[in-house]
Amino acid sequence: MKCEICGTSAVISTNNGTLCAEHFKQRFESITLSTIKKYRLIEKGEKIAVANSGGKDSLSLLYILSKYFKKSNNIISITIDEGIKGYRDKTIEIMEEYCNRYGVDYKIYSYKDFTGRTMDSITKTREGIPCSACGVLRRHLINYAASEVSADKVATAHNMDDEAENVIMNLVQNDIEKMVRLGAYSGVIKEKGFVPRIKPFLFLSEKETMLFSMLNDINAIHTPCPYAGMGFRGLISREIKRMETEFIGAKRNVINTMLDIKNQHVSKNGLKINKCRYCGFPSASDICEACKLKEELKKSPAI
Ligand code: SF4
Ligand SMILES: [Zn+2]
Ligand SMILES: [Zn+2]
Repeated sequence: MKCEICGTSAVISTNNGTLCAEHFKQRFESITLSTIKKYRLIEKGEKIAVANSGGKDSLSLLYILSKYFKKSNNIISITIDEGIKGYRDKTIEIMEEYCNRYGVDYKIYSYKDFTGRTMDSITKTREGIPCSACGVLRRHLINYAASEVSADKVATAHNMDDEAENVIMNLVQNDIEKMVRLGAYSGVIKEKGFVPRIKPFLFLSEKETMLFSMLNDINAIHTPCPYAGMGFRGLISREIKRMETEFIGAKRNVINTMLDIKNQHVSKNGLKINKCRYCGFPSASDICEACKLKEELKKSPAI
């Protein structure tokens, strides 16, 4: 397998080309930058909070945004500590080491401070799949953290695989309102209390992000969360991977279809946004899922 640009040994072959290490790194960065340009994800002078778990994807995102936008923008790292022993504590150490080494300001917000409970504690008393509660709390805290640091936008390292999973999950659950909030830029309406989310890696796969981090010596651990792979998301993730091996380009097509539907839906219906009665953040109902969960956890003390 030869690099399509220089003819030396290739390290990867995907929809984005068959490339050697150097040309792969260049193409990865150029796809990220063209996604930012095409969807106007970052404007000059904006403060960008990078949601940084200390994992390979978010460190790669912080690396690229620092490299290209540090002079024109204010880049800050925000980390959500779910309280998962042996997993998040390790990635937080890596995140701190990285931010200190490259001079990036960072802030950490924890489930423990928000709900009084860590994720490990929540899983002991709460029935159901851990990721459902965890996802609700993380989305809420990311928005809270980004508002608190006065960010104009929050950048997440969601890649093509993550987004294809989200699209299929919303389709299976018949939740078009949630699906049209996906895409490279979510926050079509400027809403007080909601910091728009941007996804510069939307058109890059998990395999590409993993390779990019390795080639740039981004020292992330590759141990998955102990609760990962359970439930609905785990099932969808496995199915999408299987689909992609038999139908190359399936993930990209899923995302492109979602973007078409989103454009049509938003121009016809707009986006419906309510506000949570308790926290004032955007919510599909009168009380947001995070505030409901917080109340529920108060009633079931930690063991
Ligand atoms: S895998 Fe699930 S429980 Fe673990 S951090 Fe992700 S959402 Fe939370
Ligand atoms: Zn090459
Ligand atoms: Zn709320």
